[in-house]
Amino acid sequence: MMIAFLGPPGAGKGTQAKLLASELHVPHLSTGDMLRAAVKARTPLGVEVEGFMTAGKLVPDRLVLGLLRERLRAPDTAGGCLLDGYPRNVAQAEALREFLPLDRVLYFDLPEQELLPRLTERRSCPTCGTIYNLRSHPPKHAGHCDRDGAELIHRPDDRLEAVRTRLQVYQGETAPVLEYYRAKGLLRTIPAGGSVEEVRAAIRRALA
Ligand code: AMP
Repeated sequence: MMIAFLGPPGAGKGTQAKLLASELHVPHLSTGDMLRAAVKARTPLGVEVEGFMTAGKLVPDRLVLGLLRERLRAPDTAGGCLLDGYPRNVAQAEALREFLPLDRVLYFDLPEQELLPRLTERRSCPTCGTIYNLRSHPPKHAGHCDRDGAELIHRPDDRLEAVRTRLQVYQGETAPVLEYYRAKGLLRTIPAGGSVEEVRAAIRRALA
């Protein structure tokens, strides 16, 4: 099954994508994670995209598409995959249709006023990717990952200025993608304001 998670930054897509991918035994393909890995490794692509990402802007379509197509060539995606963070605009959705038709698109619905604190208080583990929130899901030992003890990071694009830009970009460019998939009958809305378990149950119902 080919599934995509859509929704504003901070709605919990990454957390749920990790859980669902391991439950379905399909790879979790997060374009944000792939791009961050390229930035960290200082590849030519990483150097090219870093400025866009730090500012909270979208990386040019051709660069993300190239990265995704390359990843989808790997045999582990043959039985399905979970896309998280792609498509981010209608042009990306159109491009995807050409080479990876989706079976379901889940929209994580959360009021805008809840997104800002979720993002600015988010911390993540640079090694295992576990996501924390300083208020609602803090690590047991301040500043360190519960799983592997690594020092948690505050993503540069989770700082206030970049978060504001990301929310604007979402409204202007990504929100129209919802209509695109609604018109095709693929979209299911997930109320994303509950606990991790509640949202997980809503996802299971939407995919049943
Ligand atoms: P995310 O981890 O999904 O919040 O993505 C972090 C950042 O990576 C975004 O703010 C963009 O700069 C970039 N990015 C991730 N996915 C895409 C995409 N599909 N198209 C363009 N830029 C992307």
